[in-house]
Amino acid sequence: MGTPREECGVFAVYGHEDAAKLTYFGLYALQHRGQESAGIVASDGKNVAEYKAMGLVSEVFNETRLKNLKGHLAIGHVRYSTTGSSVLQNAQPFKVCHAGCTLAVAHNGNLINATEIRKALEEKGSIFQTTMDSEVVVHLIAKSRARGLEEGVKNTMSLIKGAYSIVLLTEEAIVGFRDPYGLRPLCIGKVNGAYILSSETCAFDLIQAEYVRDVEPGEVVVIDKGGLKSFKAVESERRANCIFEFIYFARPDSNIFGKNVYALRKALGEALAKEVSIEADFVMPFPDSGNYAAIGFSQASQIPFEFAMIRNHYVGRTFIQPSQSMRDFGVRVKLNPVKEILRGKRVVIVEDSIVRGTTSRTRIKAVREAGAKEITMLVSCPPIRYPCYYGIDFSTKGELIASRNSIEEIRSYLGLDGLHYLSIEAMIEASGRSKDDFCLACFNGEYPMEVRDYKGKFVMEK
Ligand code: 5GP
Ligand code: SF4
Ligand code: MG
Repeated sequence: MGTPREECGVFAVYGHEDAAKLTYFGLYALQHRGQESAGIVASDGKNVAEYKAMGLVSEVFNETRLKNLKGHLAIGHVRYSTTGSSVLQNAQPFKVCHAGCTLAVAHNGNLINATEIRKALEEKGSIFQTTMDSEVVVHLIAKSRARGLEEGVKNTMSLIKGAYSIVLLTEEAIVGFRDPYGLRPLCIGKVNGAYILSSETCAFDLIQAEYVRDVEPGEVVVIDKGGLKSFKAVESERRANCIFEFIYFARPDSNIFGKNVYALRKALGEALAKEVSIEADFVMPFPDSGNYAAIGFSQASQIPFEFAMIRNHYVGRTFIQPSQSMRDFGVRVKLNPVKEILRGKRVVIVEDSIVRGTTSRTRIKAVREAGAKEITMLVSCPPIRYPCYYGIDFSTKGELIASRNSIEEIRSYLGLDGLHYLSIEAMIEASGRSKDDFCLACFNGEYPMEVRDYKGKFVMEK
């Protein structure tokens, strides 16, 4: 079984008369975390209803569909998948009925021992409906739920390995839990007495909820009519927040892992200005993801900032492809260089990250063709050399350019006059945190949990 890896967004509401509608807004704010499918499961305390489909939140839901999702508790999910397994049956939340009870889960992250757990469960007669790693979570909780929901979650957390920020719905309760390393974010908010769980705080702003705190790594929060209860289910010797959430994935108006994303990206740009000294006419980003580090670099280096590449905000995920002769159309339709600004200029492009190098190459070519005389690229993170097993799917994006090429080879391939990546040390310093707080595996190969060597001796009973 190939477990599809994906980055996702999760959201949950307890104690609001229109929980599904609030969840819809929440998912809207989390849309950047997944554009393939969206789903909501709601409960009125007795009946559980669900709706999920492929597409954007705005395409999947309408007034009627939301009206059918009645109740004061709900969970929602947006899914991003670059794998071929992006089919409706793998959309979330994933709901099952077991021994007369309903359970639904929405998962952000990736379990590294899902295959082994699945094998063990199948040997004991479980029948799986999807290829999702998240489905094993539901099976495990359902199996141990006889001992109570809290025990069920606790037992499940002692068995699963990997990255998970999960929200779970039963008829009467919402549960949120996070892996002991805290790889993916999960925050608690409140609005008019209702509790909210969200991957990112930008969703709180939209629904005017106040941020309360993060769900702690290894912590379980159970929200029901008795309020919010919390306990620590699993301990770990260290944290490993995914630093790539800061670099690229999360929204700049969110605070995750106790830090504002915008401010951190800007600090990465400032750190670049400390590492390189360069003469140029102006600094530019490839919008939008490069904007914040570019501003930081411009302010710190005192090199002026220009938007020399303009983004078309109305490009859908699919459009009719032109004939073969229009090369690089997909990239050009999204970003167009401003020739009048670029002609004859020495430019510094500040880019958030390079993964495969293919997009960057085409964009740089466009800047060159628009007349730029000298192009240097500064990247606000170190070279991405190792695959991620914790939910950010670099592997299906093709080979990582930095895993098999020197910086000089990458510079040449990208058609640049100069290329510099931020060092790991400077990146950590800019974060204001310690090296041991982060997962840095895609940069340095040091996985917080052994993955490649995982032999999968899975023991059901604990
Ligand atoms: P590349 O040149 O490696 O093909 O693409 C680099 C660009 O992809 C950067 O602008 C970066 O912001 C963006 N990027 C990095 N990670 C992801 C991702 O997970 N999904 C998408 N869609 N873009 C990404
Ligand atoms: Fe994040 Fe990289 Fe670690 Fe994956 S390997 S969790 S992308 S820091
Ligand atoms: Mg980008």
